[in-house]
Amino acid sequence: MPDLLTLAQGVAERAYAPYSKYQVGCALETSSGKIITGCNVENASYGLTICAERNTIFHAVAEEGPGMKIARLSVICLGHEFPPCGACRQVIAEFSLPGGASEVTFLRDGKPVTMTIAQLLPETFAL
Ligand SMILES: [Zn+2]
Repeated sequence: MPDLLTLAQGVAERAYAPYSKYQVGCALETSSGKIITGCNVENASYGLTICAERNTIFHAVAEEGPGMKIARLSVICLGHEFPPCGACRQVIAEFSLPGGASEVTFLRDGKPVTMTIAQLLPETFAL
């Protein structure tokens, strides 16, 4: 099983983050076993910036189609630690395994923390 945090760290090096200087990388494994990576891409008009997690998830959909489900996802920021932002949590939930079972891993105090998306985003918005 590939180490998604290691993959995320590698792709974070390629982030386009000239404004925040926060280089973020993400790696996910789909329910069919495909590994997808992505990084954040910022823009001078800040609102067009895309987080590493959403960039990765959208790429995964492009690879596997609308039925793509996230088995597990890891995110890392070089020199900083934080879990996915609220917007990314909602997008992870959209492509989660049933019951919000998709696992999300991030660093806290230098150690990996894994939570399900149901734990990270209780009462998920759904139509
Ligand atoms: Zn985000």
